[in-house]
Amino acid sequence: MDNRELIEERNRLLRESARQISRTKVAKRAAEIDRANAFPSDMRELFFQQGYFSLLFPEEYGGFDGSISALCIVAEEIAYSCASSALMLVAHWVALMPLMIAGAQEQKDYFYSRVSRDGALGAFCLTEPEAGSDASALKTTAVRKGDYYVVNGRKTFVTNGGPADIYTVFVTTDPSLGKKGISVIMIEKGTKGMYIGKPEEKLGMRGSDTTDLILEDAIVPAENLIGGEGKGWEIAMMTLNLSRPSVGALALGIAQGALDYALEYSTQRVQFGQKLADFQGVQF
Ligand SMILES: Cc1cc2nc3c(=O)[nH]c(=O)nc-3n(C[C@H](O)[C@H](O)[C@H](O)COP(=O)(O)OP(=O)(O)OC[C@H]3O[C@@H](n4cnc5c(N)ncnc54)[C@H](O)[C@@H]3O)c2cc1C
Repeated sequence: MDNRELIEERNRLLRESARQISRTKVAKRAAEIDRANAFPSDMRELFFQQGYFSLLFPEEYGGFDGSISALCIVAEEIAYSCASSALMLVAHWVALMPLMIAGAQEQKDYFYSRVSRDGALGAFCLTEPEAGSDASALKTTAVRKGDYYVVNGRKTFVTNGGPADIYTVFVTTDPSLGKKGISVIMIEKGTKGMYIGKPEEKLGMRGSDTTDLILEDAIVPAENLIGGEGKGWEIAMMTLNLSRPSVGALALGIAQGALDYALEYSTQRVQFGQKLADFQGVQF
């Protein structure tokens, strides 16, 4: 078996196992997760136990050494049964990508083990109330004071906002430089001066926890800055490029799940004396 065949075989087995978990354990909980409008802690524990939290880490960090394809496979299979649960996982990986792209060895050692050993969950914090599509207009500041930064600002629409342990936060370390002044820093839950806003009341993805992150003179160790000052925008763009396929895979999983559900219904429901699936218009 050459390397490519080996990867394909590993991914085939990964899909088989993710499908099994999704269609047995996740599917059973999906409707209740949506109804309850609450983050599914049991799904979090399940994904951690399955190794999905460290899927892309090298094996020496307890990972699966997976590629973006591996993440897409798991996102698609989980989303087939529950989109909110799949989004928890995708957002976790979006939060870890800056570290994977530009993290120093000591930063990887520390944060990877927080994830693979402790089950720490990630949240990606780029958007602000006045900086959505125009993300580089962000205003959250980080001012260096010796061996720490003082961070002030407000992030919004943070997926995993409440339950996360590690927040990947985009800040400006020099507002006069525009995009070139943007940096990215890891902030851990419990940091003095960080507060979580109330969960958004959403129409869909109701089991996904979406909140604001408020930073008021938050004291963050300088060693948590990823890739050096001014590298944040480049890292953000690389992260979004890397993570887009998994967002697409999540949407594909939702669509496949909906199609299969509708197909099954159409073979059971009878109207005008025949199954819906037997009407020509339904077969198009
Ligand atoms: C459920 C949910 C989860 C999210 N999770 C996260 C997260 O984990 N982390 C994070 O950082 N962010 C997150 N976001 C934020 C998301 O990335 C932003 O919503 C997105 O960037 C768009 O910003 P906005 O909502 O402010 O819309 P706006 O930027 O205000 O855009 C409004 C509309 O105008 C259109 N528009 C804007 N600019 C242009 C243009 N130049 N040309 C044409 N049309 C334009 C947009 O397409 C959109 O239709 C989340 C959002 C949601 C809804």
